[in-house]
Amino acid sequence: MCSSDSGCYLAFPGCNIIFVIREQGRAMSNKDIRLMRDTVQLSLDHVKKGGIPFSSLVVTKDGQVLGQGVNEVSKSCDPTAHAEIMAIRQACENVGSTNLSGATLYASGEPCALCYMAARFAGITDIVIAADRHEAASSGFDYRWTYNFFENGQPGAGVNIQKLAPENAIEPFETFSAMHRRIA
Ligand SMILES: [Zn+2]
Repeated sequence: MCSSDSGCYLAFPGCNIIFVIREQGRAMSNKDIRLMRDTVQLSLDHVKKGGIPFSSLVVTKDGQVLGQGVNEVSKSCDPTAHAEIMAIRQACENVGSTNLSGATLYASGEPCALCYMAARFAGITDIVIAADRHEAASSGFDYRWTYNFFENGQPGAGVNIQKLAPENAIEPFETFSAMHRRIA
């Protein structure tokens, strides 16, 4: 039974995946699981190349990937070059429009306030995350302060956020921590 604001935990049949459904979100499918695995893998690959563990895909209802992105803040010297924004930029270029309504944004880590707003400006209202703001914070990426710009710390009505965590949802964060412990 789903009765709380924070959603409920369910086991996906036939998988080791645990996910949280908020009542307002659409039902998750095998396609969502596959796309989230791809998103997490993209993050992991980026971490192994020296990046930070954030990645994102923008995908149509039919499963067509319109855009993908990783965090390029340092590389491009652009404080707005977050993974979700990079994915949204690429998707907009691909469709020749700033309207991505109907698409879903997948993110390896919960979007910060900036990225939630970017998604909203692009008309995206379905957002699926692998790791939430608290998991990111415990791995050293604490951007929870950005949510102070939202009432109640949430991005507002009409935005559906669901957590869909593959078995390796936290692996990009753990790998990043391990790599940087070694360096330090
Ligand atoms: Zn962001």
